[in-house]
Amino acid sequence: MAQDQIEALRRMIAEAGRAVVFTGAGISTESGIPDFRSPGGIWTKYQPIMFQDFVASEEMRREAWRRKFATDETMRKAEPNRGHRAVEKLVRIGKVSSVITQNIDGLHQASGVPAEKVIELHGNTTYAKCLDCGERMELDAVRQCFVVEDRLPVCEGCGGVVKTATISFGQAMPEQEMRRAQIETLACDLFIVLGSSLVVYPAAGFPITAKRNGARLAIINREPTELDDFADLVLNREIGPTFGDAVGVN
Ligand code: NAD
Ligand code: ZN
Repeated sequence: MAQDQIEALRRMIAEAGRAVVFTGAGISTESGIPDFRSPGGIWTKYQPIMFQDFVASEEMRREAWRRKFATDETMRKAEPNRGHRAVEKLVRIGKVSSVITQNIDGLHQASGVPAEKVIELHGNTTYAKCLDCGERMELDAVRQCFVVEDRLPVCEGCGGVVKTATISFGQAMPEQEMRRAQIETLACDLFIVLGSSLVVYPAAGFPITAKRNGARLAIINREPTELDDFADLVLNREIGPTFGDAVGVN
């Protein structure tokens, strides 16, 4: 049964001319980064901080940076796993045109996918940015300021508020990334979802767009997702062993 499903996925990939991979937090759990919605996931511990609250309140900014540095060790130590390596292979051989990700961990780039082929819908938590002028600030500098000197980080250039380079709830989606993701979605004939519960919009709209536009849709996710009934192939299995097998990567 499992082998049949993996074979079906292998065939779908072989038949595709241009595939897109769409990833969520589930592809990184095998690297030791918890997802949001699984038991023990981040949301069993924390309520998300809304963008408006981060901007409006110093206390919220302090709380956000406290959380960031409480979890940063895990993020820094994390390395790409078999699922990331399988995706990288498909990009390298030209089967996958781009990787649309909801993840903020930078592990696709760390696995060797060229940065220009990774579309980060929710930004990146491995560095920070000024909300006013966009100037980049490294986490080491934020750590020095916040952890060592007990001050909130501010932009060196313009004095603006500094935040991790992620998109929070309540924050506008990045326009260029949304546009690129839309173009890639409409150009593919196979759309592969790896490790997303597909409940966060607008990100979860891309598999729907792909399918409506005539692409095949494959979903690999441990638990059922919102879009399983809509897909051509659903594998409710672990990503690393399943996708690694299908693509032939260890
Ligand atoms: P999610 O937590 O809503 O869903 C993850 C899904 O992956 C779950 O349905 C779970 O069953 C599945 N899963 C977990 N481990 C798996 C595995 N090894 N194999 C197969 N399936 C597995 O995550 P989401 O849909 O990506 O959305 C939540 C938001 O959280 C995203 O927008 C993202 O920005 C953010 N987030 C990112 C990270 C990260 O960068 N690694 C981690 C946590 C949350
Ligand atoms: Zn600035």
